[in-house]
Amino acid sequence: MDLLNTLVEKGLRRETPTREEALAVLATSDDELLDVVAAAGKVRRAWFGRRVKLNYLVNLKSGLCPEDCSYCSQRLGSTSGILKYTWLKPEQAAAAAGAGVAGGAKRVCLVASGRGPTDRDVERVSQTIAAIKEEHQDVEICACLGLLSDGQAERLKDAGANAYNHNLNTSEATYGDITTTHTYADRVSTVRQAQAAGMSACSGLIAGMGESDEDLVDVVFSLRELDPDSVPVNFLIPIEGTPLAGDWNLTPQRCLRILAMVRFVCPDVEVRLAGGREIHLRTLQPLALNLANSIFLGDYLTTEGQAGKDDLAMIADAGFEVEGTDTTTLPAHRADAAAAGCGGHGGEGGGCGPCGDAAPADAVPGEAVPARAAAGATVAAPAGTRESHADLVAVRRRGAGTDLPPNA
Ligand code: SF4
Repeated sequence: MDLLNTLVEKGLRRETPTREEALAVLATSDDELLDVVAAAGKVRRAWFGRRVKLNYLVNLKSGLCPEDCSYCSQRLGSTSGILKYTWLKPEQAAAAAGAGVAGGAKRVCLVASGRGPTDRDVERVSQTIAAIKEEHQDVEICACLGLLSDGQAERLKDAGANAYNHNLNTSEATYGDITTTHTYADRVSTVRQAQAAGMSACSGLIAGMGESDEDLVDVVFSLRELDPDSVPVNFLIPIEGTPLAGDWNLTPQRCLRILAMVRFVCPDVEVRLAGGREIHLRTLQPLALNLANSIFLGDYLTTEGQAGKDDLAMIADAGFEVEGTDTTTLPAHRADAAAAGCGGHGGEGGGCGPCGDAAPADAVPGEAVPARAAAGATVAAPAGTRESHADLVAVRRRGAGTDLPPNA
C-alpha cells in the first residue's frame, strides 16, 4: 500500500503524517491489518528495537475523588466497589514499588486520586520517592497526582521525580462530554508545567469512550504538538458503577489500528500499551508489542491485570526483550534534549487516575452519543453494539491498600 510505505518513510524521518493519512490507518480493513501492524512495527523497531519497557503502578490513594471523570471508578458517585484508602505510608508504597522492580519494572508510577495535590501531599509523595530511591537508585519515578499548582512541579522534580503523567484522554471537542469538573485546558497546562520544571512528560489517551475517528486523530495530533516523551494508550475498562459501564465498542483489530496510528504520529515516543489491553486485545495482545514499546506490568489502579509472569512470558514468546536499567529508553536525540534540560519542547514546560486504569466503554444503547459523533463524524461502531466482556473485568483486591501480595 502506498499509504503504508509513505507512513513508514515519514516515521523514520520523524515527520508528521497528514490527518488524512492518520484517518486512513483507522479506516483500513481487517484484510489489511497485518500489513498495518508490520509497517508500524518497522517504525517501532527503528527507534526502540525489540525492547519492551515495564512500568509498575502504585495507587497511593484510592477512590473518594471529588471529580466526575466518566471513565473512572474513583470518581464522585462511583458505585464500583473498588478499594478505597487514603495515602499509603512511604514504606508501604516503597514495598509495593519494590515488588514491581523485582518483576522487571524500570519505572514506578505513583498515582493518587483527586483533583490535584495539596502542598502537604507533595511533601508526602516526596518522602515516598526518597523511600523508593533509597532501595532502588536506578528506578525511574513518575508522579501522577492530578492538576498541579504553581511551584509543585519544581518541588516534585527536586524530590527526585523523573516524570509526570497527566493524560489528555480525548479530543478537546469531546472533553466536556466525559468530565465537567475540570477542562481540557487545565490538563494541557499541567503537562506544560511538568515540562517547564524539567520533568519528562507522560500524556496519553483513552480510546473506546464513544469518540469518532476524528476525535482520536485530534487528541493524538494534540499530543504530538505537546510533545510528551511517553504516550500511554488506554482502552476503556467499562467498570460497573461508572457511567460508561455499558460501553463495549472496541475490537482487538480496532485497538491495533489505534496503536498503529499513534506510532505513526508519534514515531520516536515511548508508546505505552496501558489499561484495558487484556480485556480488549485479548489473544491479540502479543501483536500490539510490534506497535507499543512499553507496557504496565501486573495490576492497574483499581482493576487487576493478567499475572506479571504472564506479561513476561508474552514478551519472550513474541520475540521481544525486557528493557534493562542500563539502557536508555528514548532515542538519543530525545534523551539528549531531556538531559540538556530543554526536553525538546521548545521551552514549554498528564490527569491523575487513568494512568493505566481507563474505565470507559462505548455509549450505552439508548443514551445520547457524544456531540462529535452525533454530528456525523466516523464512528467505529454504533454505541454499545460490541460484545460485552465484563466477565474479564476484575476489581483489584490485592497489592497496595490490602494485606495481600501485589501482582508483579
Ligand atoms: S481520573 Fe483522576 S480526577 Fe478524574 S475522577 Fe478519576 S481520580 Fe478523580
